[in-house]
Amino acid sequence: PLKRKFAIESVPENGVLGSSDSGVKVILRVRPPSKDEEEGELIIQKTATDSLSILGQTFTFDSVGDTESTQLEIFQLVGAPLVENCLAGFNSSVFAYGQTGSGKTYTMWGPANALLEENLSSDQQGLTPRVFERLFARINEEQINHADTQLTYQCRCSFLEIYNEQITDLLDPSQRNLQLREDVKSGVYVENLTEECVSTMKDVTQLLTKGLSNRRTGSTSINAESSRSHSVFTCVVESRCKRAADGLSSFKTSRINLVDLAGSERQKLTGAAGERLKEAGNINRSLSQLGNLINILAEVSQTGKQRHIPYRDSRLTFLLQESLGGNAKLAMVCAVSPAQSCKSETLSTLRFAQRAKAIKNKAIVNEV
Ligand code: ADP
Repeated sequence: PLKRKFAIESVPENGVLGSSDSGVKVILRVRPPSKDEEEGELIIQKTATDSLSILGQTFTFDSVGDTESTQLEIFQLVGAPLVENCLAGFNSSVFAYGQTGSGKTYTMWGPANALLEENLSSDQQGLTPRVFERLFARINEEQINHADTQLTYQCRCSFLEIYNEQITDLLDPSQRNLQLREDVKSGVYVENLTEECVSTMKDVTQLLTKGLSNRRTGSTSINAESSRSHSVFTCVVESRCKRAADGLSSFKTSRINLVDLAGSERQKLTGAAGERLKEAGNINRSLSQLGNLINILAEVSQTGKQRHIPYRDSRLTFLLQESLGGNAKLAMVCAVSPAQSCKSETLSTLRFAQRAKAIKNKAIVNEV
């Protein structure tokens, strides 16, 4: 087989991002060229494990995945540390960002058929099923390692879509236009959102398959089947521990958010009218607000100056405010195409990724 010039630099299988590591981890993933693109000009070269060059400009991130990087490598970089962080009691989020067709969905879920029960060991399986496979295995391990305590876990999942600034429950699509609420005890939450307990891979794949089949895709004159919605798969992991020796008990809770963002391409207005035009504006609102917040947070992290952070200006940023500069560890997988034809969107994704790199979060363990 061809020897790869640069392997992806991966953390150890069970690697933990140190608790002092509050930076946003940014991974750039270049998808393989499609059939048409192979004949065209490819403009990105990986120049080291953490950098790439495009048309003479070099960009550096935490890691760069090239056209040959595998789903397992992405899991090792992002998913394995996420599971460890979660078990340690940190809220942990992964966002997939990039233009439509750059590989966000492939990265987060894998191709649709890789989710089927009999394909669970497929190489193509995406980040989300791998995270749960690891999570359940580690929970098992923890329970065996702490056999002297009563250690119990509960994992509850929900799956929602933000489309046209409306929240729909992907596990019960009759629940549309759900409202965001906030209180001191629960933080920000979605009222009436379905939550289901999961304890096996079968439970998780059933939820994923159901939710993904309820996702909307829209088509415009420019992009057929483009993904114009943001989807958020959330799992709350609660652990209770009671020591047999002295009866002392503790409770830890943490939240995993796996977020597949809508295509980041500029919404061209040609051909869009009525609902489509309104939708373009609203989708822009959540994404452009995300971009705004990333700019503000990067500035706050760099200068230390306090500023008002307008989380509430879009559903996406309000819902995910904890992940953005708050009490969570955040990884961003930014997906790009290697093709000349995507040059301007790719450069825009790279700039977004660079700004995201500057943010510092303030993750703390949620334990009582
Ligand atoms: P997005 O969600 O960003 O719109 P997709 O994940 O749907 O993009 O990817 C577009 C196409 O490219 C799909 O057919 C997908 O299977 C393929 N693809 C994306 N990334 C990879 C990859 N790393 N390896 C193989 N195929 C990929």
